[in-house]
Amino acid sequence: MTIFEQTQTLNKKYNCFLEIFHEGRYPPASGKLEGMTVAIKDVLALKDARLTCGSKFLENFISLYSATCVERLAQAGARFIGKTNMDEFAMGSSNENSAFGVVLNPWDTTRVPGGSSGGSAVAVAIGAARLALGTDTGGSIRQPAAFTGTIGIKPTYGRISRYGLTAFASSFDTVGTFTRNLEDAALALEVMAGKDALDATSADIPAEEYSLGLEKDVRGLRIGIPIEYYGEGIEPDIREAINDTKEKFKKAGCTIHNVSLPHTKYAIAVYYILTTAEASSNLARFDGIRYGKRAKEAETLLETYVRSRSEGFGAEVKRRIMLGTYVLSSGYYYAYYKRAQRVRRLIKNDFTNAFNECDALLTPTTPTTAFKLGDKISDPLAMYLNDIFTVSANIAGVPAISIPVGLDNNDLPIGVQLMTGDFKETKLFSLAKEIHVDVLQRLKVN
Ligand code: GLN
Repeated sequence: MTIFEQTQTLNKKYNCFLEIFHEGRYPPASGKLEGMTVAIKDVLALKDARLTCGSKFLENFISLYSATCVERLAQAGARFIGKTNMDEFAMGSSNENSAFGVVLNPWDTTRVPGGSSGGSAVAVAIGAARLALGTDTGGSIRQPAAFTGTIGIKPTYGRISRYGLTAFASSFDTVGTFTRNLEDAALALEVMAGKDALDATSADIPAEEYSLGLEKDVRGLRIGIPIEYYGEGIEPDIREAINDTKEKFKKAGCTIHNVSLPHTKYAIAVYYILTTAEASSNLARFDGIRYGKRAKEAETLLETYVRSRSEGFGAEVKRRIMLGTYVLSSGYYYAYYKRAQRVRRLIKNDFTNAFNECDALLTPTTPTTAFKLGDKISDPLAMYLNDIFTVSANIAGVPAISIPVGLDNNDLPIGVQLMTGDFKETKLFSLAKEIHVDVLQRLKVN
């Protein structure tokens, strides 16, 4: 069977791809990543391929150019196999907000794969791709990585160019990867990281050889346990996994310390005020004229906007746009948007202080393992609360990784999260190698 046929067969079962490429459509070059099969979240541009963002609105949109991260992977020899399914415009935690159907979790097909990069997570978990690109605004790489037993990394804000990424919340959006092993993640980051003249927010700090971090000793590194992250609502199996992880770090010569991030309780509120505000502005370009399918019956300009947007966007996207315009409206701007910006600074300061006391923070990635399809979709607040441990890294911009460390009682993967200071990805890799368990060996596909 060709890669194309294999991918098609797997996709019939899990719906993780929105488009699968015939071999030869994107012939691979030679280089550091030679022959590595790569799947691309359908929110990142690849020249001449559809770019739907999981939305009906963009069902027939073809990209005119490739994202910088995609271009850099191509030059290093990546073999692109397809575009992956996702929550519409990357808004969601379960993939149930995709306009093209849910993605099924290969560990238990009655459960969600997480979101919004659920298709990318599953593509790697089932072995269809060696690497998948995702994006993470509030957890969209780390949460699905935890739910599928894959490694998900969200680098520092600005580490990887976002040119060619359809913006959701520009001061939060980050490109990252899903892989089965740390070596592939480190190599891909080396290739993609670094300044890009096409993205003014890309950091002018040279990329490191992250794979060298995989050989580094971690003796003497200080692991911080943020006490605010260990309240109610964490499943017992996940607590136990955290305790085992602490033991592994101790054995490797690390020390464990309690630290405090006192403004953690405001993180979800800050995240959902600021990201909806930014989304309401970013998504204004989808008006049926500049971008997006135009409604047929509209006669006036206003009617064109209103009808196109009403028909094109799904319920969650509409909810976010409405929340965003509300918090930005003149009567509420100071009470919500402005205040949330201030609390964002306090949260960032919490992290700066914590990283004066320790090298990395250890938390669960999620309070629970993969939940059932349909469980939270009619309760947006319950869905938002699932992001409780992941949003802070985006609020503060710090790098974070989710690493599989074992399975729970139901044989579902458990992921733990490590965070370090800005641009300390090498340290993230050094620590991650001490605790990673390749749970995917236990996954039976087909
Ligand atoms: N689940 C979060 C949300 O719905 C995170 C999304 C993301 O990181 N793109 O906003």
